[in-house]
Amino acid sequence: MRAMVMDAVNEPLAVRDVAAPVPPPGGVVVEVHATGLCRSDWHAWAGHESIALPHVPGHELAGVVAAVGDGVGRWCVGDRVTVPFVCGCGRCEWCRRGEAQVCPDQQQPGFTHWGSFAERVALHAADVNLVGIPPSVSFESAAALGCRFATAYRALTARARVAAGEWVVVVGAGGVGLSAVMIGRALGARVIAVDRAAEALDAASGVGAEHTVLADGADVPAAVHRLTDGGAHVSVDAVGSAPTCADGVLSLRRRGRHVQVGLLPTPSGLSPVPMARAIAWELDLLGSHGMAAADYPPMLALIESGALRPHDLVGRTVDLEEAARMLPGLGEHSSAGITVVDPRR
Ligand SMILES: [Zn+2]
Ligand SMILES: [Zn+2]
Repeated sequence: MRAMVMDAVNEPLAVRDVAAPVPPPGGVVVEVHATGLCRSDWHAWAGHESIALPHVPGHELAGVVAAVGDGVGRWCVGDRVTVPFVCGCGRCEWCRRGEAQVCPDQQQPGFTHWGSFAERVALHAADVNLVGIPPSVSFESAAALGCRFATAYRALTARARVAAGEWVVVVGAGGVGLSAVMIGRALGARVIAVDRAAEALDAASGVGAEHTVLADGADVPAAVHRLTDGGAHVSVDAVGSAPTCADGVLSLRRRGRHVQVGLLPTPSGLSPVPMARAIAWELDLLGSHGMAAADYPPMLALIESGALRPHDLVGRTVDLEEAARMLPGLGEHSSAGITVVDPRR
Protein backbone atom coordinates (compact mmCIF):
# COMPACT_ATOMS: atom_id res chain seq x y z
CA MET A 1 0.00 0.00 0.00
CA ARG A 2 1.04 3.64 -0.41
CA ALA A 3 1.86 5.52 2.78
CA MET A 4 3.56 8.67 4.03
CA VAL A 5 6.72 7.48 5.76
CA MET A 6 8.83 9.26 8.37
CA ASP A 7 12.36 7.82 8.25
CA ALA A 8 13.94 10.35 10.61
CA VAL A 9 12.93 13.14 12.97
CA ASN A 10 12.82 16.61 11.41
CA GLU A 11 13.58 15.36 7.89
CA PRO A 12 11.40 15.49 4.76
CA LEU A 13 8.65 12.85 4.62
CA ALA A 14 8.45 10.31 1.79
CA VAL A 15 5.44 8.73 0.09
CA ARG A 16 6.16 5.16 -0.98
CA ASP A 17 4.91 1.58 -0.98
CA VAL A 18 5.05 -0.28 2.35
CA ALA A 19 3.64 -3.58 3.64
CA ALA A 20 -0.11 -3.38 4.29
CA PRO A 21 -1.22 -4.14 7.88
CA VAL A 22 -3.10 -7.26 8.94
CA PRO A 23 -5.81 -7.07 11.61
CA PRO A 24 -4.50 -7.75 15.15
CA PRO A 25 -6.50 -10.09 17.42
CA GLY A 26 -9.59 -8.13 18.49
CA GLY A 27 -8.81 -5.47 15.90
CA VAL A 28 -9.60 -4.51 12.33
CA VAL A 29 -7.94 -2.99 9.30
CA VAL A 30 -9.69 0.07 7.89
CA GLU A 31 -9.41 1.37 4.33
CA VAL A 32 -8.80 5.09 4.92
CA HIS A 33 -11.14 7.45 3.02
CA ALA A 34 -10.33 10.65 4.91
CA THR A 35 -7.72 11.55 7.53
CA GLY A 36 -7.06 14.95 9.08
CA LEU A 37 -3.71 16.74 9.12
CA CYS A 38 -3.11 17.91 12.70
CA ARG A 39 -0.53 19.78 14.76
CA SER A 40 -0.06 16.61 16.85
CA ASP A 41 1.40 14.98 13.73
CA TRP A 42 3.92 17.79 13.66
CA HIS A 43 4.82 17.17 17.33
CA ALA A 44 5.64 13.54 16.46
CA TRP A 45 7.60 14.59 13.35
CA ALA A 46 9.55 17.16 15.38
CA GLY A 47 10.64 14.51 17.87
CA HIS A 48 8.42 15.51 20.83
CA GLU A 49 7.09 11.94 21.17
CA SER A 50 9.03 8.68 21.33
CA ILE A 51 8.26 7.06 17.99
CA ALA A 52 9.71 3.89 16.47
CA LEU A 53 11.17 4.58 13.01
CA PRO A 54 10.35 4.21 10.21
CA HIS A 55 6.90 5.50 11.07
CA VAL A 56 3.60 6.31 9.35
CA PRO A 57 1.81 9.26 11.03
CA GLY A 58 -1.92 10.09 10.94
CA HIS A 59 -4.50 9.70 13.73
CA GLU A 60 -7.76 11.41 12.65
CA LEU A 61 -9.42 8.95 10.34
CA ALA A 62 -12.60 7.63 8.83
CA GLY A 63 -13.06 4.81 6.38
CA VAL A 64 -14.46 1.37 5.70
CA VAL A 65 -13.63 -1.85 7.54
CA ALA A 66 -11.53 -3.93 5.11
CA ALA A 67 -10.54 -6.90 7.31
CA VAL A 68 -11.65 -8.18 10.72
CA GLY A 69 -9.40 -9.99 13.24
CA ASP A 70 -10.25 -12.86 15.57
CA GLY A 71 -12.59 -12.05 18.44
CA VAL A 72 -14.29 -8.97 16.98
CA GLY A 73 -18.05 -9.11 17.60
CA ARG A 74 -19.51 -5.76 16.56
CA TRP A 75 -17.94 -4.97 13.18
CA CYS A 76 -18.03 -6.43 9.67
CA VAL A 77 -16.19 -5.77 6.41
CA GLY A 78 -17.84 -2.79 4.72
CA ASP A 79 -18.89 -0.90 7.86
CA ARG A 80 -18.29 2.90 7.76
CA VAL A 81 -16.33 3.73 10.90
CA THR A 82 -14.21 6.29 12.70
CA VAL A 83 -12.20 6.04 15.91
CA PRO A 84 -10.96 8.36 18.69
CA PHE A 85 -7.24 9.11 18.45
CA VAL A 86 -6.86 7.44 21.86
CA CYS A 87 -7.86 3.77 21.59
CA GLY A 88 -8.32 2.05 24.97
CA CYS A 89 -7.32 -1.52 25.82
CA GLY A 90 -10.92 -2.39 26.68
CA ARG A 91 -9.96 -4.29 29.84
CA CYS A 92 -8.69 -1.83 32.49
CA GLU A 93 -10.79 -0.03 35.12
CA TRP A 94 -10.91 3.20 33.06
CA CYS A 95 -11.97 1.44 29.85
CA ARG A 96 -14.67 -0.48 31.75
CA ARG A 97 -16.01 2.90 32.99
CA GLY A 98 -16.11 4.24 29.41
CA GLU A 99 -13.06 6.46 29.93
CA ALA A 100 -10.72 4.95 27.37
CA GLN A 101 -9.24 8.42 26.72
CA VAL A 102 -7.04 7.94 29.81
CA CYS A 103 -6.37 4.19 29.43
CA PRO A 104 -2.85 3.38 30.71
CA ASP A 105 -2.46 0.78 27.94
CA GLN A 106 -3.82 3.02 25.20
CA GLN A 107 -2.94 2.68 21.55
CA GLN A 108 -2.77 5.72 19.30
CA PRO A 109 -2.62 5.13 15.56
CA GLY A 110 0.06 7.40 14.15
CA PHE A 111 1.98 7.39 17.47
CA THR A 112 2.14 3.95 19.13
CA HIS A 113 1.87 2.19 15.78
CA TRP A 114 1.54 3.08 12.10
CA GLY A 115 -1.25 5.55 11.45
CA SER A 116 -3.69 6.63 8.78
CA PHE A 117 -1.58 8.59 6.27
CA ALA A 118 -1.78 5.39 4.27
CA GLU A 119 -4.29 3.42 2.25
CA ARG A 120 -4.93 1.15 5.24
CA VAL A 121 -4.52 1.33 9.02
CA ALA A 122 -4.78 -1.30 11.79
CA LEU A 123 -6.95 -0.47 14.82
CA HIS A 124 -6.88 -2.33 18.15
CA ALA A 125 -9.74 -3.40 20.47
CA ALA A 126 -12.30 -2.65 17.78
CA ASP A 127 -15.37 -3.51 19.85
CA VAL A 128 -14.40 -0.82 22.41
CA ASN A 129 -12.99 1.87 20.14
CA LEU A 130 -14.75 1.93 16.78
CA VAL A 131 -17.67 4.29 16.18
CA GLY A 132 -20.16 3.73 13.34
CA ILE A 133 -20.60 6.75 11.08
CA PRO A 134 -24.28 7.68 10.57
CA PRO A 135 -25.31 7.63 6.88
CA SER A 136 -25.83 11.42 6.82
CA VAL A 137 -22.26 12.14 8.05
CA SER A 138 -19.47 12.27 5.44
CA PHE A 139 -16.06 10.62 5.79
CA GLU A 140 -14.48 14.12 5.85
CA SER A 141 -16.69 15.22 8.76
CA ALA A 142 -16.11 11.97 10.63
CA ALA A 143 -12.32 12.28 10.22
CA ALA A 144 -12.54 15.74 11.77
CA LEU A 145 -14.20 14.30 14.89
CA GLY A 146 -11.60 11.85 16.21
CA CYS A 147 -9.09 14.30 17.59
CA ARG A 148 -9.85 17.98 17.45
CA PHE A 149 -13.65 18.18 17.33
CA ALA A 150 -14.28 15.44 19.91
CA THR A 151 -11.56 16.89 22.13
CA ALA A 152 -13.17 20.33 21.98
CA TYR A 153 -16.59 18.78 22.66
CA ARG A 154 -15.38 16.93 25.74
CA ALA A 155 -13.37 19.95 26.94
CA LEU A 156 -16.47 22.16 26.97
CA THR A 157 -19.05 19.58 28.10
CA ALA A 158 -17.66 16.90 30.44
CA ARG A 159 -14.65 18.95 31.62
CA ALA A 160 -15.61 22.67 31.79
CA ARG A 161 -19.39 22.00 31.99
CA VAL A 162 -20.17 25.15 30.02
CA ALA A 163 -23.65 26.54 30.71
CA ALA A 164 -25.79 28.70 28.44
CA GLY A 165 -25.03 32.39 28.83
CA GLU A 166 -21.48 31.91 30.11
CA TRP A 167 -18.51 33.62 28.48
CA VAL A 168 -16.02 31.23 26.87
CA VAL A 169 -12.66 32.46 25.57
CA VAL A 170 -10.92 30.21 23.06
CA VAL A 171 -7.21 30.91 22.52
CA GLY A 172 -6.16 29.69 19.07
CA ALA A 173 -8.57 29.40 16.14
CA GLY A 174 -7.12 26.42 14.29
CA GLY A 175 -8.95 23.10 14.07
CA VAL A 176 -9.56 22.50 17.76
CA GLY A 177 -10.19 26.18 18.47
CA LEU A 178 -12.76 26.61 15.71
CA SER A 179 -14.42 23.40 16.91
CA ALA A 180 -14.58 24.85 20.43
CA VAL A 181 -16.09 28.09 19.11
CA MET A 182 -18.79 26.19 17.19
CA ILE A 183 -19.55 23.86 20.11
CA GLY A 184 -19.55 26.69 22.68
CA ARG A 185 -22.05 28.62 20.60
CA ALA A 186 -24.23 25.51 20.19
CA LEU A 187 -24.22 25.12 23.99
CA GLY A 188 -25.59 28.66 24.30
CA ALA A 189 -22.34 30.24 25.50
CA ARG A 190 -21.00 33.63 24.37
CA VAL A 191 -17.66 32.97 22.71
CA ILE A 192 -14.56 35.13 22.26
CA ALA A 193 -11.88 33.84 19.88
CA VAL A 194 -8.21 34.84 20.15
CA ASP A 195 -5.60 34.25 17.43
CA ARG A 196 -2.50 35.82 15.89
CA ALA A 197 -4.02 35.58 12.37
CA ALA A 198 -6.84 37.82 11.19
CA GLU A 199 -8.07 35.16 8.75
CA ALA A 200 -8.39 32.64 11.59
CA LEU A 201 -10.50 35.17 13.48
CA ASP A 202 -12.70 35.66 10.40
CA ALA A 203 -13.26 31.90 10.37
CA ALA A 204 -14.08 32.00 14.11
CA SER A 205 -16.67 34.72 13.52
CA GLY A 206 -18.14 32.56 10.78
CA VAL A 207 -18.72 29.64 13.17
CA GLY A 208 -20.15 31.66 16.03
CA ALA A 209 -17.60 33.84 17.86
CA GLU A 210 -19.33 36.95 19.26
CA HIS A 211 -16.05 38.84 19.64
CA THR A 212 -12.51 38.30 18.39
CA VAL A 213 -9.18 39.50 19.80
CA LEU A 214 -6.12 39.77 17.54
CA ALA A 215 -3.12 38.59 19.55
CA ASP A 216 -0.60 40.87 17.84
CA GLY A 217 1.22 41.79 21.02
CA ALA A 218 -2.00 43.09 22.57
CA ASP A 219 -2.83 42.42 26.24
CA VAL A 220 -5.26 39.56 25.59
CA PRO A 221 -6.49 39.11 29.19
CA ALA A 222 -7.18 42.86 29.50
CA ALA A 223 -9.20 42.78 26.28
CA VAL A 224 -11.21 39.78 27.48
CA HIS A 225 -11.86 41.35 30.89
CA ARG A 226 -13.18 44.49 29.16
CA LEU A 227 -15.47 42.53 26.82
CA THR A 228 -16.85 40.31 29.60
CA ASP A 229 -17.02 42.79 32.49
CA GLY A 230 -14.68 40.83 34.73
CA GLY A 231 -13.38 37.87 32.77
CA ALA A 232 -14.58 34.72 31.03
CA HIS A 233 -16.20 31.85 32.92
CA VAL A 234 -14.28 29.31 30.85
CA SER A 235 -11.03 29.49 28.91
CA VAL A 236 -9.61 26.97 26.47
CA ASP A 237 -5.97 26.95 25.35
CA ALA A 238 -6.29 25.30 21.97
CA VAL A 239 -2.69 26.08 20.99
CA GLY A 240 -0.43 24.73 23.70
CA SER A 241 2.31 27.20 24.64
CA ALA A 242 3.26 28.99 27.84
CA PRO A 243 1.97 32.38 26.57
CA THR A 244 -1.35 31.00 25.24
CA CYS A 245 -1.91 29.00 28.44
CA ALA A 246 -1.25 32.13 30.49
CA ASP A 247 -3.55 34.22 28.28
CA GLY A 248 -6.32 31.66 28.87
CA VAL A 249 -5.85 31.44 32.64
CA LEU A 250 -5.47 35.21 33.12
CA SER A 251 -8.58 35.89 30.99
CA LEU A 252 -10.79 34.08 33.50
CA ARG A 253 -13.07 35.70 36.02
CA ARG A 254 -12.94 34.60 39.66
CA ARG A 255 -13.87 30.90 40.12
CA GLY A 256 -13.38 30.38 36.36
CA ARG A 257 -12.40 27.09 34.68
CA HIS A 258 -9.42 26.72 32.33
CA VAL A 259 -9.16 23.71 30.05
CA GLN A 260 -5.74 22.89 28.60
CA VAL A 261 -6.17 21.09 25.29
CA GLY A 262 -3.11 22.13 23.31
CA LEU A 263 -0.10 19.97 24.13
CA LEU A 264 2.67 21.60 26.20
CA PRO A 265 5.73 19.43 25.58
CA THR A 266 8.85 20.51 27.47
CA PRO A 267 12.05 18.54 28.15
CA SER A 268 11.28 18.52 31.90
CA GLY A 269 7.59 17.72 31.49
CA LEU A 270 6.79 20.86 33.49
CA SER A 271 4.90 23.84 32.11
CA PRO A 272 4.67 27.35 33.56
CA VAL A 273 1.10 28.22 34.62
CA PRO A 274 0.01 31.37 36.52
CA MET A 275 -0.65 29.47 39.75
CA ALA A 276 -0.78 32.60 41.94
CA ARG A 277 -3.92 33.70 40.07
CA ALA A 278 -5.32 30.16 40.20
CA ILE A 279 -5.01 30.21 44.01
CA ALA A 280 -6.22 33.75 44.67
CA TRP A 281 -9.22 33.52 42.32
CA GLU A 282 -9.94 29.83 43.00
CA LEU A 283 -9.61 28.85 39.36
CA ASP A 284 -10.07 25.26 38.19
CA LEU A 285 -7.28 24.06 35.88
CA LEU A 286 -8.43 21.08 33.82
CA GLY A 287 -6.72 18.82 31.34
CA SER A 288 -8.60 17.25 28.44
CA HIS A 289 -7.33 14.37 26.34
CA GLY A 290 -9.60 13.34 23.52
CA MET A 291 -12.91 11.57 24.04
CA ALA A 292 -13.76 7.89 24.31
CA ALA A 293 -15.94 6.12 21.76
CA ALA A 294 -18.53 5.60 24.52
CA ASP A 295 -19.15 9.37 24.62
CA TYR A 296 -19.70 9.84 20.87
CA PRO A 297 -23.50 9.20 20.63
CA PRO A 298 -24.69 12.58 22.05
CA MET A 299 -22.18 14.44 19.85
CA LEU A 300 -23.22 12.46 16.77
CA ALA A 301 -26.87 13.24 17.54
CA LEU A 302 -26.08 16.98 17.53
CA ILE A 303 -24.25 16.57 14.21
CA GLU A 304 -27.14 14.64 12.65
CA SER A 305 -29.58 17.32 13.85
CA GLY A 306 -27.45 20.05 12.26
CA ALA A 307 -26.73 21.81 15.57
CA LEU A 308 -23.03 21.00 15.08
CA ARG A 309 -21.54 21.18 11.59
CA PRO A 310 -17.97 19.80 11.57
CA HIS A 311 -18.03 19.84 7.78
CA ASP A 312 -17.94 23.65 7.93
CA LEU A 313 -14.46 23.36 9.48
CA VAL A 314 -13.05 21.22 6.67
CA GLY A 315 -10.99 23.31 4.31
CA ARG A 316 -9.04 21.59 1.57
CA THR A 317 -8.72 17.91 0.71
CA VAL A 318 -5.22 16.94 -0.44
CA ASP A 319 -3.33 13.79 -1.51
CA LEU A 320 -0.53 12.08 0.44
CA GLU A 321 2.24 13.89 -1.45
CA GLU A 322 0.87 17.34 -0.68
CA ALA A 323 0.21 16.35 2.95
CA ALA A 324 3.84 15.20 3.24
CA ARG A 325 4.97 18.63 2.05
CA MET A 326 2.57 20.47 4.41
CA LEU A 327 3.21 18.53 7.64
CA PRO A 328 6.66 19.96 8.57
CA GLY A 329 5.19 23.48 8.40
CA LEU A 330 2.37 22.88 10.89
CA GLY A 331 4.50 23.98 13.84
CA GLU A 332 4.92 27.45 12.41
CA HIS A 333 1.45 28.41 11.29
CA SER A 334 -1.97 26.93 11.84
CA SER A 335 -4.14 26.94 8.73
CA ALA A 336 -7.71 28.13 9.10
CA GLY A 337 -9.84 25.02 9.50
CA ILE A 338 -9.05 21.37 8.97
CA THR A 339 -7.09 19.98 6.01
CA VAL A 340 -8.19 16.45 5.12
CA VAL A 341 -6.02 13.90 3.31
CA ASP A 342 -7.58 11.33 0.97
CA PRO A 343 -4.92 8.58 0.60
CA ARG A 344 -6.84 7.03 -2.32
CA ARG A 345 -6.11 10.06 -4.54
ZN1 LIG B 1 -5.12 15.48 15.83
ZN1 LIG C 1 -7.81 0.40 29.13
